[in-house]
Amino acid sequence: MLTRASDQTHNLLIDGRRMPALSGRTFDTVNPATGEVIAKVAEAGADDIDAAVRSARAAFEGPWKRMRAADRGQLMLKLAELIRRDEDELVNLESIDSGKPVSAIRRQDLPAVLDTLTYYAGMADKINGQVIPARTDALTYTVREPLGVVAAIIPWNFPLMIGMWKIAPALACGCTVVLKPAEITPLTALKIGELALEAGFPAGVLNVVPGFGKVAGQALVDHPDVDKITFTGSPVVGRQILQGASGNLKRVTLELGGKSANIIFPDADLDAAVKAAGSGIFFNTGQVCSAGSRILAHESIYDEVVQRLAARADSTRIGNPQETSTAMGPLVSEVQMKRVLDYIEIGRNEGARVVTGGSRHGDVGYFVKPTVFADVEHQMRISQEEIFGPVATVIKFTDEADALRLANGTVYSLAAGVWSADIGRVHRFARDLKAGTVWVNTYGPTDIRLPWGGSRDSGFGREHGDAAIENFTEQKVVWIQTGK
Ligand code: NAP
Ligand code: MG
Repeated sequence: MLTRASDQTHNLLIDGRRMPALSGRTFDTVNPATGEVIAKVAEAGADDIDAAVRSARAAFEGPWKRMRAADRGQLMLKLAELIRRDEDELVNLESIDSGKPVSAIRRQDLPAVLDTLTYYAGMADKINGQVIPARTDALTYTVREPLGVVAAIIPWNFPLMIGMWKIAPALACGCTVVLKPAEITPLTALKIGELALEAGFPAGVLNVVPGFGKVAGQALVDHPDVDKITFTGSPVVGRQILQGASGNLKRVTLELGGKSANIIFPDADLDAAVKAAGSGIFFNTGQVCSAGSRILAHESIYDEVVQRLAARADSTRIGNPQETSTAMGPLVSEVQMKRVLDYIEIGRNEGARVVTGGSRHGDVGYFVKPTVFADVEHQMRISQEEIFGPVATVIKFTDEADALRLANGTVYSLAAGVWSADIGRVHRFARDLKAGTVWVNTYGPTDIRLPWGGSRDSGFGREHGDAAIENFTEQKVVWIQTGK
């Protein structure tokens, strides 16, 4: 069992080489299940970011541009093969750095990473333009060209998976990438960067620069030679990124937070609904942008939903993420644990009732018990603000109109779920819910083939599927005058 990463400093990966930060600075990364430092990591400063962007530009204009698209795809398939080879190491690194249970990483994150990579590997040589017969005296057609240097800035809740959601389509399109992982989960991104080198990607195509958001992240956002920022994180930072990106009018995709509603009608299969509502909020210790954090239950089944959900919370196997039987690990950091405990206090003070949980679990590591709040009113802060922890708020509704008003009544629009056997009702909700994804009689699945993203404070733009290809390419028109 791995409890530490290697004792060497985990250096930056720039221009095909592992190197310390130019400042020589490092920071510690911690295992949130124990609170112990597991490794030292080089801390990228603005000068390192500049070096990474210059390397990405040189690779973009040089070897990467000259490579056949099909060969780019082959390199991506080779990377997938190496990820499979080193799966155990990746699973363990991700687990000790983020606190995610190994069982969940193996079942969910790793397969999603591989699916993403192979899906976009297959797309690399299918990014076509169009002949558009605009005139009779000219041949007019479009080509799709890669945007250039992409800055990918990612959060800590799914470091491997969200990282690959950005890297894979960018590389397939022929862009080069500077990846800034979250400072508290930098280790697997560095490992992916190394595997990419081993696979044969030219130096500079994928640079990995751990560091702090305000320094390394901001330097990427401000850099005049970055063409595109693809960001997943909080609405606060999303707004800062938009401002910074205005300098050279970088293209921006923002995948931000959510406060998603999961609506349960009395005609639903209640066993399935409550089971999915439980995993919808407790999976990944609630640190999921599309977590079903607001469970809206019809008044006739409200008490039953609350009681069954509490029973599910109580039966969650919480503990050492390295043990395969563990279903729920710690929050990712002490800061995050305190934030969640603060929200629980806020909920109590607002008059909501803690049915189960409501406190820290143990005194080692950053565990919080799965918590269920009942008697939650729509305007309470715990019903409106993203907690990003294992805290379910259960809210009563009276009829369809009431459910819809509550479901759409936050600043977010990322995802929503509805449980009902009434086909007309299901269609009405699919139409009227403000969300990038509406799940019906299920909650939470995503697939790389389907567009993913939100609107309002959940951000804008779509990742996955064809949408990601549009994110990383631009159309050029070629007009060849032929004469009649
Ligand atoms: P965050 O604070 O916004 O950080 C996200 C990334 O941005 C990190 O790498 C961070 O670096 C970096 N960053 C911070 N300040 C920056 C700046 N001024 N310029 C450029 N980069 C900067 O979010 P988080 O706390 O890591 O993640 C939680 C949030 O992400 C939640 O709100 C959640 O809903 C959202 N999220 C959304 C999705 C989605 O698909 N929609 C998925 C997952 C998470 P540091 O690590 O140094 O802070
Ligand atoms: Mg860590």
